Amino acid sequence: MANATDVLVVGGGIVGCALAWMLAREGVAVTLIERRAIASGASGANAGSLHAQIPHEPFLGKGEDWARNYAPTLGLLAASITLWRGWPEELATDLDLSTPGGLLVAETESQLADIARKAAIECEAGVAVELLDAAGIRRIAPYVSSRVIGGLFCPAEGKANPLVTTPALARAATAAGARLLAPAGLRHLARVAGGFRAATEAGDITAARVVNAAGAEAARVSAMLGLELPIEAHPIQVNVTEPAAPLIRHLVYHAVERLSLKQARNGGVLIGGGWPSRIRADGRLVPDPRSMAENIAVAIAAVPAIADLRLLRTWPAIVNGTDDWLPILGEAAGVPGFFHAIFPWMGFTGAPVTARITADLLLGRAPGHDLAPFRADRFARSPREHDPPLRTAAQDA
Ligand SMILES: Cc1cc2nc3c(=O)[nH]c(=O)nc-3n(C[C@H](O)[C@H](O)[C@H](O)COP(=O)(O)OP(=O)(O)OC[C@H]3O[C@@H](n4cnc5c(N)ncnc54)[C@H](O)[C@@H]3O)c2cc1C
Repeated sequence: MANATDVLVVGGGIVGCALAWMLAREGVAVTLIERRAIASGASGANAGSLHAQIPHEPFLGKGEDWARNYAPTLGLLAASITLWRGWPEELATDLDLSTPGGLLVAETESQLADIARKAAIECEAGVAVELLDAAGIRRIAPYVSSRVIGGLFCPAEGKANPLVTTPALARAATAAGARLLAPAGLRHLARVAGGFRAATEAGDITAARVVNAAGAEAARVSAMLGLELPIEAHPIQVNVTEPAAPLIRHLVYHAVERLSLKQARNGGVLIGGGWPSRIRADGRLVPDPRSMAENIAVAIAAVPAIADLRLLRTWPAIVNGTDDWLPILGEAAGVPGFFHAIFPWMGFTGAPVTARITADLLLGRAPGHDLAPFRADRFARSPREHDPPLRTAAQDA
């Protein structure tokens, strides 16, 4: 006989574990299934940055219209960081959380002009950001290179430790009464009377509602119900140095090069920014040495004092992405009871709000955010449906 639950959460990353905890705390019968180990995906291998601004790389590549379309996500990031600040106490765990602010640094006037265009959109969206000149940057961040001529300060940003966060959420979920099963991969999912039937590696489970929190593999889970989700899966990598004396206070980004740089409380400098790693022919994910060398060079150019540190480790992992960078949230159109809980690219930052919104929807509460921009069916709206009808030669004549 199949085990029965009210809510089945697919995926034991930060989103799934946070959701299981939030639901179990409210007395909901929740079972979470994870195909490998808890936090074995991006949630346990990311760089730990808490982002609050429009990511600069897609802004440069996709432009201002994209950034305005992205702007509703900024409200989610801000709400998520507020939730993050409460987690150390709620979870009774030191998450190495701090929010001293993020610094996007520029070396040329044209880079500064791009930053200013982005800052204008952030201000319109209500994000606190401040443009700084060279003296302003050096006053708060004397460690940045003398080549930096200015930049943007975003006070809400910071970091937390991915190695401890998701395990702490999983412990809290279990303590609150959630059932966490791992390894328990979902093999098959079908709609049945009263809900869903899931065939998993740990046996069959029936559930009234199902949440897709499978990160980069969310498209496969949705496909089991005939739903197409354009989730991307990108192999990227992060580096960490040996511990050093406290030096870098902020989360540091560069105005052109891929860079996120911060110092953990143990002194290690985490260096990332979305540089690609490799997938070998046998399917194994491995670091790309060229990405590593370029990433480190960019980091040293921004913060020269790290040049003498030894690199301890570089590791790869798969990040979940969407082309428009917006989350996918809410109940799937046409499949009542099936919910998406997907925050792409910056899902470590976005996990608390993703879980909170999904929990509120499942509990029948107003989610407190307009979810229209984040609906999965935005992808179904093909541009052709909105294009003006093609003119015929007769009309043109
Ligand atoms: C190298 C790297 C650096 C990053 N840096 C940052 C950062 O600094 N800041 C930031 O905000 N974000 C960062 N991210 C992104 C962030 O880590 C992810 O967006 C976030 O962790 C996604 O969380 P999740 O719980 O949705 O997915 P995941 O952590 O991927 O968890 C999904 C889980 O679902 C499981 N699963 C999949 N299919 C099935 C199935 N069929 N049955 C059962 N289980 C299944 C997987 O095994 C996985 O454990 C980074 C990502 C990477 C890879």
